[in-house]
Amino acid sequence: MTHAILVLGAGMVGTCTALHLQQRGFDVVLVDRRAPGQETSMGNAGLIQREAVEPYAFPREPEFLLHAAWGRGAQVHWHAQGLWQMAGALRRYFKHSGPALHARATQAYSRLIAHATHEHAELMRAAGAQALARQEGFRLVFRTPQAMDAALHRASDLHDRFGVRYQAQNPHQLAQAEPGLRMPLAGALHWLDPWAVHDPGALVQRYADLLVARGGLLLTGDAGSLQPEGLGWSVQTSQGRMRAEQAVLALGPWADRLIRTLGYRFPLFVKRGYHQHYRPPVGLRQPVLDAESGYVLAPMVRGLRLTTGAEFAPVDAPATPVQLTKAEALARQLLDLGEALPEPPWLGSRPCTADMLPVMGPAPRHKGLWFNFGHAHQGCTLGPVAGRLLAEMLHGQRTWIDPAPYLPSRFD
Ligand SMILES: Cc1cc2nc3c(=O)[nH]c(=O)nc-3n(C[C@H](O)[C@H](O)[C@H](O)COP(=O)(O)OP(=O)(O)OC[C@H]3O[C@@H](n4cnc5c(N)ncnc54)[C@H](O)[C@@H]3O)c2cc1C
Repeated sequence: MTHAILVLGAGMVGTCTALHLQQRGFDVVLVDRRAPGQETSMGNAGLIQREAVEPYAFPREPEFLLHAAWGRGAQVHWHAQGLWQMAGALRRYFKHSGPALHARATQAYSRLIAHATHEHAELMRAAGAQALARQEGFRLVFRTPQAMDAALHRASDLHDRFGVRYQAQNPHQLAQAEPGLRMPLAGALHWLDPWAVHDPGALVQRYADLLVARGGLLLTGDAGSLQPEGLGWSVQTSQGRMRAEQAVLALGPWADRLIRTLGYRFPLFVKRGYHQHYRPPVGLRQPVLDAESGYVLAPMVRGLRLTTGAEFAPVDAPATPVQLTKAEALARQLLDLGEALPEPPWLGSRPCTADMLPVMGPAPRHKGLWFNFGHAHQGCTLGPVAGRLLAEMLHGQRTWIDPAPYLPSRFD
């Protein structure tokens, strides 16, 4: 049992955690009920968001809230049961989204985001997966000059404070960059630092392949079977019960369910999202966020992927792809989308926390148990950073980022 460790959950976060632990000499067993990267980490918009130095706050504009409450627009959808279940966490999310607390969260969040592309680059190089990402940024496009001016003002501020690079593009420059877009649009803000992954699930699979090539074990199993055993932990897998001194929970949107069985009540909730693929006659060269409507169009291997905003509903409630229908109609104003691919809409859940910071570190009341979840809108971006930070803590190394703001003990 000396250096063995169980990592439960083979999404972007768990797989990167497993790799970083392995690099530090641990015998890693990575366990998931599915193949690596088949859940949230597969269906996202694939952006490695180096520009996302501010965590996503609860919008406070009365007009937006009224729209959301009445179910207007494509940005938000809710199930009454979801709001009821998440009410406590959402109240705290609203409070933490106030200017002072959000500014504090931004300080902590930006320290993680700053390393996102560099840490992915290291793992991509080792996994031979560089071809899965394009390093050309992505665009926010605007329908009105007012929205564009406000976004440029904010971008200039973020550039001054955090060094994130951007370019303003007028309608002519935008039309040249993306000839498939229907004009007139007011213009675009091109974030220059982010990367776009055109098959996020395949990227996780490549990272998992690297783990296995270096001697790690990847097994099918149910994290729900985790039990304390002797001085460590054990879990049931396809190869029998696996035991280790330590275990990491990286179950993304399903983490809450498991930690509740251990007695933890953290303010966690999910923002569900959908995607659908299209094959437009003239596609997009880079991902586009329709900033005033709240959906993304991203070129992927399967076609152009349309991803939606936030749906507040229980993680396993039946799909209600209302936002997808609305977003598709809005996207058709921007681009000749062509037919949707004949496949059911994909549904996934962003694993969110009330204070907008991920949960990374030792479980407060269980020896040898570690948490790594809650990366919300940027788990694809933050996987390698989260994996490295957790592995450094667990290994007892001096960490290269101060882990204090992310420790699970802040909620206990
Ligand atoms: C529509 C949408 C668009 C997004 N766009 C972006 C983006 O552009 N950029 C970005 O950075 N992020 C984006 N995100 C967020 C990002 O996808 C998530 O933050 C990230 O995937 C979370 O990764 P994870 O590894 O924590 O969770 P997951 O990828 O969900 O992994 C959790 C794993 O745990 C496993 N699991 C769960 N329960 C059990 C169990 N009982 N036993 C065994 N295994 C179990 C699951 O099978 C899964 O593999 C988006 C999300 C959505 C929904």
